[in-house]
This record gives sequence, C-alpha cells and structure tokens, in this order.
Amino acid sequence: MNARSSALDIPRIFNITESAHRIHNPFTPEKLATLGAALRLEAGTRVLDLGSGSGEMLCTWARDHGVVGTGIDLSRLFTEQAKLRAEELGVADRVEFIHGDAAGFVSGEKVGVAACLGATWIGGDVAGTIELLAQSLRPGGIILVGEPFWRQLPPTEDVARGCLAGSISDFLLLPELLASFGRLGHDVVEMVLADQDSWDRYEAAKWLTMRRWLEANPGDEFATDVRAKLSSEPERYATCTREYLGWGVFALMTR
Ligand code: SAH
Repeated sequence: MNARSSALDIPRIFNITESAHRIHNPFTPEKLATLGAALRLEAGTRVLDLGSGSGEMLCTWARDHGVVGTGIDLSRLFTEQAKLRAEELGVADRVEFIHGDAAGFVSGEKVGVAACLGATWIGGDVAGTIELLAQSLRPGGIILVGEPFWRQLPPTEDVARGCLAGSISDFLLLPELLASFGRLGHDVVEMVLADQDSWDRYEAAKWLTMRRWLEANPGDEFATDVRAKLSSEPERYATCTREYLGWGVFALMTR
C-alpha cells in the first residue's frame, strides 16, 4: 500500500484488504526470518521501525534475537494487532508500538537498526527516508529500507500504472537502485528480495480477506468498491505486478 493520509488513520480500504495480514509487504515469515539472521543481530540491539504495520518484524526478532525496540504506525488497527502479537509471542516487555504519524520521527535513544519497510513516503522519498532514519542511528548502525524496483522494465506507462506505480520513472531496476544507495553515501551490506511466490502471499491473501469481508458486510458503503476490487485484482496482479515489480529490503551502512 502506498498512501499518506489524515492524522487519524490510513485509508479504510487498506484496513479492510490487509486486516488478516501479519506482514504487509511481499515477504513471507521465512524471508523476514532470513533477513533477521542475515543482519547478525545481537541481543539487546535497539530497533526502530517506521511504518511498523502489525509489528511482525519487531515481535519475531525480539523473540528470535532478543532485540528491543519501537514501532510507529498510522493504522489504528495494525498497531492494535501489533500489541496483541507482542503479547502472544511473549515479548511485550521488549517492544513498544505507537499509533501515530512517523513522518519526522526521531528516537530519543539512538538505535542499532533503523528500518522503514514498504513505507518510504514517510520521509518523502527513499533519500528522505534514509536521512530521517539516519537521525536515529548510532554510529556503525544499520539502516533497513524496503522498496520496490522493476524486475523488468514495463513496456508501457499503462503497465506501470497497472503495477500501481504513478509512472515507469517511479522505480528503478535493481542494479540502479543498488547504485543509488551508493550515491546517497551508503554501502549496501545485505539484501533479501521478494520473489513471485512471496508476492502471491501478500497479494492473493487480500482476495480471500475481501471475499470474507463482503460476506460479513453486505450493506457497508464500501461493499461496491471492495466487490469491484475483488473482481479485478487477480487479473491485474498477474498481468502487471507479478511480472514486473520486484521488492526487497536493503541493509545500508554509512560510508
Ligand atoms: N513495515 C510493515 C508495514 C508495511 S505497509 C510491514 O512490512 O509489515 C505500510 C505501513 O505504513 C502500513 O502499516 C501503514 O499503516 C503505515 N503508514 C502509512 N503512512 C504512515 C505514516 N505517515 N506514519 C506511520 N505509518 C504509516
């Protein structure tokens, strides 16, 4: 999802289509675990997560690696789910979830890992988000950015819009994206990439959620929108996003 919104919450459509997601990006639990292991996290490492969604990264890394940390998210529902997940995994004493706008958020205590996965509009763009995250980072810390790239260049602007991009120029090819981090003064020290199967987990999971929601909320003012989306999404996704859009998390350290 990719929308800024009012001070109160994100647009309702995301709270509907992603209500059953634990991970609100094209990563599986396995890929999230791979990333946590790849970073060689030490127990006690402080992690900041801007746009923390339902908190799966912080909660599982607190359980598996003993990290501590804070997540900020604009969705009331997702933040509530994050708090419940922390209870469920027994890490509520190690992770904190704040409902709010993460734009401009700088942590009081410096962190070892500062992350923004799939929400880089929070800092305006990728460069702005890296700059924002850097303000919370201790020397030698790691910045994590989760960002789309083109697996292959869309042949037309229509296909780019079918990938829900504004235009082809919104995203780079992977080598260009990696080079852009260098130009911003950072080494890319690790990366974990989504693949088509993990994209399916993010996108196709929305379809069953929409179907169930429609059955439970037939008279809702949003039902027409959700109905239209459920009817068109599988074909749009298979034609565009699944073929053309990549996504990955990139670990950066200042040069
Ligand atoms: N990083 C999470 C969520 C990614 S989806 C994950 O990987 O699961 C993008 C998230 O950004 C959503 O949870 C949305 O609610 C949140 N968001 C959008 N605008 C925001 C803002 N201005 N401040 C904080 N969170 C925001």
